[in-house]
Order: sequence, then C-alpha cells, then structure tokens
Amino acid sequence: MDEITIHDKTFVPYITFEELEHAIKMMANTIYQQYRNETPIFVGVLNGVVMFMSDFLKQYKGSCEISFLQMQSYEGLKSTGKVRNLMDIGMDISNRHVIIMEDIVDTGNTLEALYDLVRKKSAKSVKIATLLYKPEAYKKDLDIDFIGMSIPDKFVVGYGLDYNRLGRNLPDIYQVKTNE
Ligand code: 5GP
Repeated sequence: MDEITIHDKTFVPYITFEELEHAIKMMANTIYQQYRNETPIFVGVLNGVVMFMSDFLKQYKGSCEISFLQMQSYEGLKSTGKVRNLMDIGMDISNRHVIIMEDIVDTGNTLEALYDLVRKKSAKSVKIATLLYKPEAYKKDLDIDFIGMSIPDKFVVGYGLDYNRLGRNLPDIYQVKTNE
C-alpha cells in the first residue's frame, strides 16, 4: 500500500482490512457470548460506522435488531467539543438491551452525549462497542465495554472514517503523516 493524499494532507497505510476483519470477528464472538439468550439492538452511529457495522453484523451469529442515529462533533482534524444530534434512533428501545456501535472513540464527547440520549429512552441496559479507541485522548469516565483496537492519538481515515467528507470508501485505515 502507498501513501495517499486527501485535500491538503498525506496519509500513510496503518491498519489493513485483514487486521480489521480479525478484530471485528473477535468482537462479534465476545458480544455473542454475552447476548446469546437475548435479542439486542445494535445502534450504529452514522456516518463513520457504516463499514464496521456491516462487517460486524455479518459475523454476529445471534438474533439481533439494528438501528442508526447520527451525531456530529468533528470539523477537519479536531473534535469541536460540541455534539449535535442530527438524527434520532427512530424506534422504541424501552426495556431492550442496547449496544451503541461506534467507529472510533476519541475524546468521548460524542459517546457521552449518545449514552445519555439512549439512557433517557429507558433501555434495559446500554453497552458500548467501538472498533477503534484512542486511550490518550479519552477524557470521560464512562466504561467502554468492547474495543476492537486501541490506537495512538493521531488522526486516521478510511474504512468509514473521513477527512472533511473524503476517504470513507477506503477499505484500509490510514494515519495522518504529520499533525500540523
Ligand atoms: P469524540 O467525540 O470522541 O472526540 O469523537 C468521536 C467522533 O469524532 C467519531 O465518531 C468520529 O466521527 C470523529 N473522529 C475522532 N477521531 C477521529 C479520527 O482519528 N479520524 C476521523 N476520521 N474521525 C475521527
């Protein structure tokens, strides 16, 4: 794999699709072990989660339902700290087991806002699964229940993740070359 340019930034190959697939398979099995006797609702956080959600669901062996919602906190390479709710869940989740599905957890601002939103809808339980996690950037106390891979605090694109709307369709993940 080669370096790529998106807008004004150069990105270097970082995590291959095969590595992602392996981590996702492990997550799907771990989650299945805990929910095998239930029908959980996987709530995906758009847009970044599209690839992860689709590959995860193909690996999840149990009964489940899915839904999506949309939040936004990023502009360019930085989290703005303000989280906007752009689209609501659109289904009754009261008394249901919910697993919030995130592509990446960075500062945790988005996650905290999401968690509060889901809790308010009287779910029976709420857990959090994320494909990527940046432990050095995380500022919240909320436990993250299922993590695919922990990565350093550097901006990444691909596999659903964008840089100013581009790069979501890359099958592998790339890391920004410099942090200017
Ligand atoms: P947080 O609210 O945890 O700071 O950020 C969460 C959201 O910011 C993610 O859902 C994702 O949309 C975006 N984000 C955080 N880190 C990255 C990154 O390294 N690359 C990209 N493309 N988006 C990121």
